[in-house]
Amino acid sequence: MPHSDADNPETPDSCGFLSQFGKSEESTEWHSPAPVGYQRGKTKFVVVIGTVMSGLGKGIFASSLAKLIKDKGLSVDPLKMEGYLNIDSGTLNPYRHGEVFVLADGCETDMDLGTYERILSQDLTRKNFITAGQVYTDVLERERRGGYLGRDVQMIPHVTGIVKMRLRELAMSGNSGKQADIVFVEVGGTAGDYENGFYIEALRELAFEEGPESTCFVALTYILEPSILGEQKSKAAQLGIKRLMEAGIQPHIVACRAKNPVTDKVMEKIAMFSNVPLKRIFSMHDRESVYAIPEEMRAAGLDREILTILNLHGRTNPAKEDVARAAWLEFSRKIFAPRKHRIELALTGKYAALRDAYASIEKALEHCAIALNCEIRTRWIDTSELLDDAQTAAALEGVQAVIVPGGFGQRGVEGKIRCVKWARTNKVPFLGICLGFQMAVIEFGRNVLGLAGANSTEFEPNCAHPMIAELPDQKKLEGIMGGTMRLGGQDVALDAGSLASFLYGNKLDMRERFRHRFEVEPKYVARLQEAGMRFSGRHPKFPIMQLLELPQSMHPYFTGGQFHPELTSRPLGPNPMFMGLVAAGIASREPEFALTETGRRWVRPNARAVTTA
Ligand code: GLN
Repeated sequence: MPHSDADNPETPDSCGFLSQFGKSEESTEWHSPAPVGYQRGKTKFVVVIGTVMSGLGKGIFASSLAKLIKDKGLSVDPLKMEGYLNIDSGTLNPYRHGEVFVLADGCETDMDLGTYERILSQDLTRKNFITAGQVYTDVLERERRGGYLGRDVQMIPHVTGIVKMRLRELAMSGNSGKQADIVFVEVGGTAGDYENGFYIEALRELAFEEGPESTCFVALTYILEPSILGEQKSKAAQLGIKRLMEAGIQPHIVACRAKNPVTDKVMEKIAMFSNVPLKRIFSMHDRESVYAIPEEMRAAGLDREILTILNLHGRTNPAKEDVARAAWLEFSRKIFAPRKHRIELALTGKYAALRDAYASIEKALEHCAIALNCEIRTRWIDTSELLDDAQTAAALEGVQAVIVPGGFGQRGVEGKIRCVKWARTNKVPFLGICLGFQMAVIEFGRNVLGLAGANSTEFEPNCAHPMIAELPDQKKLEGIMGGTMRLGGQDVALDAGSLASFLYGNKLDMRERFRHRFEVEPKYVARLQEAGMRFSGRHPKFPIMQLLELPQSMHPYFTGGQFHPELTSRPLGPNPMFMGLVAAGIASREPEFALTETGRRWVRPNARAVTTA
């Protein structure tokens, strides 16, 4: 067979799909690759496609649904399909697209993956994220290797073939380590977009090939309610769903986003025009909290309908569901309960105008607020406007905690350094994240060690004291080649007896996620330590400073991580760096505060002696 690669597990015949038609690749129009060992029909697919418009909360909808099903004891794997040609989200500007979310394996993704990780409480990998850029690159590289057996390479079946391959690969080697029960697909954009047309076509093919009861298509639509009419109108939704049907996809379920509960009249109209029975049309109107959505879906019977469509009722585990549901209900109940404590916290960023740029930080704070029974008021501060110490003091006056978050580029950096100085000298609890950690080192260098020219080579390549620098040799030690960023999960060794170790439950190691190019120049470490700064979290083998703190004799709570703790915070498992910060903020106002309701201590004994010193 010319050009075929017998050892390649992706050889089309290996899946047996072609043999079902009794033909080989060359003599057929079929092209439907699947990994070796893939069992057709074993994994089910739930596909969420938006119509009418974007911004409907498709990610929240799909992740809530996936959670509801996962809680029943089924293994789920989400797949976000992006229409853009970028290979990943690494080069996207957070000001336009929201934050870049980094997975444990270092893949830089859309912020929606963060929503999935948090709601599902599950670590994802690069297999859970696909972009048009990845798909086309794959097709073109394969073509150059002669992977298409002399055929002309086309959108259908070759580009769609790659998409199906990725779906089946994910199904095969999902997060659970075995072939997943359900893959949840979220198609980016809306039906009718140029960018996602090949995804929708691939999903149509997939549903056909996988067979009956294999795929459940959910159309997420929007019901308009123009204020001049004062009533809901279904036409835009009808047209949107029609668009999907023109692409050969008959939705099984229609979920209607709307401001108010969708009326029977509107649902009947949609049922009539879309061939979907009324009981499979759901009102997904605005709720007070996104955490209430899984339970609302359950009450409406959305999970039941999906299990029926996919013939999965026999695979659920009701006992498991009871436990998972009780924990989630307890969590969502606390959201609206009045809070015992209150703090005001400053988030001092560059993208303060666009909150999506700090979505995971906001979520991490929300997780802590609920766990610590504390109302957190966030003061958003644009550091590019802080031109001197007096302005900084005026902007920060009255807050009980300061976060200097991550970032790239010069703008706002001096303002961030002023914020660190204010928090350090006023003994206000402080957390520096990534760039914020680096700013804490520079601030200490300038104002405690007296190194006037201290800076990062990111901002001043020829500065007198490059305390933060790009260190290619150091990266080589770790085996980071080519790419200059240190990305993804890394081990951090913690000093015994340190604040860091206390926060991580007296452990001596932990793992967090990184995304940085610059780091602490090791030759300054001894001087920083002599003056009191402690690098209590390091790389287990190399001189890479990963976590810093000031001792209790100097400050009640001053920490920073070269990593991004916000990426691993979960509703039922808040990140320790944030818990420590918020708890210290509460303790600065309420001297008796030490233990949380769960009995876990988040404020070190004696910490307050310093607060009042
Ligand atoms: N710009 C800094 C670096 O590349 C910090 C990065 C960040 O905050 N994510 O090292």
